[in-house]
Amino acid sequence: MHLQHHFETGVHPWLSQLTPYQTGKPIDETARELGLDPGSIVKLASNENPLGPSPRAVEAMKKALEKCHIYPDGSGYYLRKAIAEKLGLDIENIVLGNGSNEIIELLGHVLLKPGTNIIAAEHAFVVYKLMAQLQGAECIEVPDPDFRHDLRAMRQAITPDTRLIFVANPNNPTGTAVTSNELDELIMLVPHWVTVVVDEAYYEFLENPPDLIKHIRYGRNVVVMRTFSKTQGLAGLRIGYGLMPTHISRWLQRVRQPFNANLIAQAGALASLNDHEHLQKTVSLIKSERSKIEAALRDLGVKIVPSQANFLLMEVGDGNAMFRALLQQGVIVRAMESYKLPAWIRVTIGLPAENERFLRELKKVLKK
Ligand code: PMP
Repeated sequence: MHLQHHFETGVHPWLSQLTPYQTGKPIDETARELGLDPGSIVKLASNENPLGPSPRAVEAMKKALEKCHIYPDGSGYYLRKAIAEKLGLDIENIVLGNGSNEIIELLGHVLLKPGTNIIAAEHAFVVYKLMAQLQGAECIEVPDPDFRHDLRAMRQAITPDTRLIFVANPNNPTGTAVTSNELDELIMLVPHWVTVVVDEAYYEFLENPPDLIKHIRYGRNVVVMRTFSKTQGLAGLRIGYGLMPTHISRWLQRVRQPFNANLIAQAGALASLNDHEHLQKTVSLIKSERSKIEAALRDLGVKIVPSQANFLLMEVGDGNAMFRALLQQGVIVRAMESYKLPAWIRVTIGLPAENERFLRELKKVLKK
């Protein structure tokens, strides 16, 4: 008790507000708890790629395994160079992260402290707010009518203490997108002390992907985040990156850990970067399956938010109860209470058989 007390007086006071990020429920854990066969469980809870990893990545990673007694290239030279070449940027514009999540955290280390704030949409990806809390900073949450980010309202919410504005395009968990013009306007009109962070984790699913690279070339206060977790199917590797002008990347490079992108991840990501075939297969599967599910849900009278990503947000009455009922049937989805959406669940688009199973179980639960 005595030691515990002394320890706790040293803990940052703002951490008592911090709730850890809730991840999707893993298949093995569900199988253990419910006494089910792991092979019978369908997980549609973490927006993963149902086609699996890019085959090119798997091949490269197998080779890299033989080298894993050696530390990775701390500068991530080959991967950063390949990303830079692909996008017409300079290698100095690229910062690798242990998932794109780490880029969010690095920005927090560099720019936030108690007394500063970030701006995010009310139903934005929750990690932005958690990262602000981690640094003792505030998150100003701006209403998002019809679940779409209102970029003008977000700009109007800027204060002298604002450091970062986060825009997820498309956003998780809503699946909605903003336009190229809206983004250009925000980036051009923010005051000089504010950096616009555009999270493009699901970029490849967008109908009209905006070109933000021009703002980076121009040296504006913009960070674009991308990941190998979604269309490249490499979520388990934890590798993503940020694109930004050098006056920003220099600081993120200074605060990151020396080997934050591991050796296997660098090899897999490099091999998958230009695997257009896997990307195309993924995007076309997701889009056709998503329209099928949308149509089925409309027939059932379930309200959905039109999505430009590999998941759908749907209103089911009691999201926690629906999560539990589907879990009992071996289908893992995500309840949305932590997003202040207690009536909603978010469901990842899976393989055709997985989606059919989800719809079947959903119908059964709704009938009851
Ligand atoms: N941004 C958004 C909007 C996401 O949904 C996710 C994944 N849940 C991430 C970033 C993080 O992805 P990762 O760290 O796997 O790159």
